[in-house]
Amino acid sequence: MTPAAGLRQVAVLGATGSIGASALDVIARYPQRMRASVLAAGSNTGALLALCAAHRPDHAVIADPAGLAPLRDGLRAAGLATRAHAGDEALEALVAGPACDTVVAAIVGAAGLGSTLAAARAGKRLLLANKESLVLAGELVIAAARASGAEIVPIDSEHSAVFQCLRSCRAEGVRRLVLTASGGPFRGWDSARLATVTPAQAVAHPKWSMGPKISVDSATLMNKGLEVIEAHHLFGLAGDRIDVLVHPQSLVHALVEYVDGSTLAQLGLPDMRTALAVGLGWPERIDSGVAGLDLLAEGRLEFEAPDLAAFPCLRLAREALVAGGTAPAVLNAANEEAVSAFLQGRIGFLGIPALVEDTLAALPAAPAGSLEALLAADAEARRFARQHLPPMPSAGIRTA
Ligand code: NAD
Ligand code: MG
Repeated sequence: MTPAAGLRQVAVLGATGSIGASALDVIARYPQRMRASVLAAGSNTGALLALCAAHRPDHAVIADPAGLAPLRDGLRAAGLATRAHAGDEALEALVAGPACDTVVAAIVGAAGLGSTLAAARAGKRLLLANKESLVLAGELVIAAARASGAEIVPIDSEHSAVFQCLRSCRAEGVRRLVLTASGGPFRGWDSARLATVTPAQAVAHPKWSMGPKISVDSATLMNKGLEVIEAHHLFGLAGDRIDVLVHPQSLVHALVEYVDGSTLAQLGLPDMRTALAVGLGWPERIDSGVAGLDLLAEGRLEFEAPDLAAFPCLRLAREALVAGGTAPAVLNAANEEAVSAFLQGRIGFLGIPALVEDTLAALPAAPAGSLEALLAADAEARRFARQHLPPMPSAGIRTA
């Protein structure tokens, strides 16, 4: 059980999700080099137990306190030495402590902020997939990482691409970044058609297999808006130097244009294991299990401008970045509430940008120097958004 010297100890947060699965796939390829020492999930105790049996971590954390007893009992019944924990505080303590040196932050939504910040403050290597924590509190996360010496390696494919392309030069030489977007499942659709979109259609992404929230964000283009804000914090460029191009093949993930006219791009198949292998192996390159690119077989690389009239979320995110202060936190919170309401069938697809826009208009940007101010803005935006949703279908007895 004693880990060999130099073995990377990885905490995988959001282990039962899509990024979690990709991370564990790469980690399991290198038993001599790294291991999953902490696994954390939201509420699916059964799935977490199955991962513990496969990866034998030292600690397993379930966010939902009701999951603690079944987790502990399940670990014991399986004869595993893994220790069970529940709740955000336990997770943050494990992330900050000696149980790991590397943290894959892949919890979805603002729920990932506490553990992301804990990893940044504790000086861990932070493999950051949880983009919402940067949208909500980017300045604080980046400042904490700077102060502690934590090394952030972005996992979002576009940001991993920029991270890789930037290795050729100091940041001052950069003229602009270009993030690519697949365009999602509804590329080319107009508003009338978008009004008919169902949750099942929205989560069926044409190029990437991802969790439901980011899949809906990709369909509305909010994902690209969140990524512009994410790139602003990670790479220190103003929003007007971060462009977006729709690229339906999803093979070019981002481009970095330098002042001398040179543009570097990163290409690869749309499989998150590449970005995770970059983060886990950096500065070495390790095999991720992803095949190389066969450009002859792919044939074409196409690019087009995003349709901001049909997909207003990208504009809303850019406006929130310019407004600054609490605006990105409000944008993110309203979007999480709207996506959740859409997935529950309570609002239509076009209700998502409408609710985000109304919330931003109702709660104008205020200065946000502290975590408390940002969390208060997040809570207020969620309250406003929930109040402006249609009432839940009654669960009471029907008499008809
Ligand atoms: P997912 O829905 O597949 O998985 C989410 C994970 O978070 C699950 O393990 C779930 O148990 C856990 N979780 C949810 N709420 C939690 C809580 N309150 N406390 C602790 N754990 C909780 O999502 P995903 O697609 O893996 O995405 C995860 C993050 O990575 C998101 O921020 C997403 O934007 C980002 N990301 C994902 C992809 C991708 O390809 N899937 C690409 C880029 C970025
Ligand atoms: Mg992305």
